[in-house]
Amino acid sequence: MKSLNFLTNARTHSRQFAVIGLGRFGRAVCTSLHKMGYEVLGTDIDEKLVSQVLAQKIASHAIQLDSTEPESLKEAGIFEMDTVIVAIGNYLQESIITTLNVKEAGVEYVVAKASSEIHGKVLRRVGADRVVFPENEAGCALASTLTQPGLLERFQLDTENSIVEILTPNEFHGQTLAQLDLRKRYGVNVLAIGDGEKFITNPSPGQMLKKGLVMVVIGSNTNLQRLPIH
Ligand code: ATP
Repeated sequence: MKSLNFLTNARTHSRQFAVIGLGRFGRAVCTSLHKMGYEVLGTDIDEKLVSQVLAQKIASHAIQLDSTEPESLKEAGIFEMDTVIVAIGNYLQESIITTLNVKEAGVEYVVAKASSEIHGKVLRRVGADRVVFPENEAGCALASTLTQPGLLERFQLDTENSIVEILTPNEFHGQTLAQLDLRKRYGVNVLAIGDGEKFITNPSPGQMLKKGLVMVVIGSNTNLQRLPIH
């Protein structure tokens, strides 16, 4: 959820990132972080990909190395980074050894890309702080936007709770937050109301909801699913 990225960033005041593996996913991570103004070091075993990243200027630095070798990671300064993203999905052994290497060396926050459930489980076992399944997540997000166009964004807090950005359901039109009493009826809380230009945070009970307004709502996934989002 773009507008809520601050929640992820607020976890640490992380400013230095390393991305290991410069496939499509790794390059996308590099590009976004670099565009946001962060220092990003990109690495890959494949020299051609490293040169490509340097030529396209999608990372601050790029180095060719084999991430299964702790010495190479150390020399490249990977262990001093606040956050390391292990973007190696298809080479299980390399992905697992690399995650183990960076965690054992004391990197505070390691995100690893998994290509299957079991791969994800192993990555957690070797210390990954966060495991992502990009293809799976993108597929689920697409299905949800196709079936629930009123659900604009979802920011998953953990496996059970989320913050969602939704279009005000027709059923809520013309009612105040106090009248709707969403906390009691659905077990969710409204964090903000937006009109496309600006958000009002901590909206008052007297805030009137209208069609077209955007609501930012926090709650358990089970409770959020009960909202009349179409
Ligand atoms: P996609 O391109 O779809 O994002 P992916 O993220 O699953 O795929 P992979 O095919 O798993 O990507 O590979 C990511 C990159 O990791 C490749 O460019 C590969 O060269 C690199 N890589 C594989 N093994 C190592 C290693 N030991 N050290 C550094 N980089 C490696």
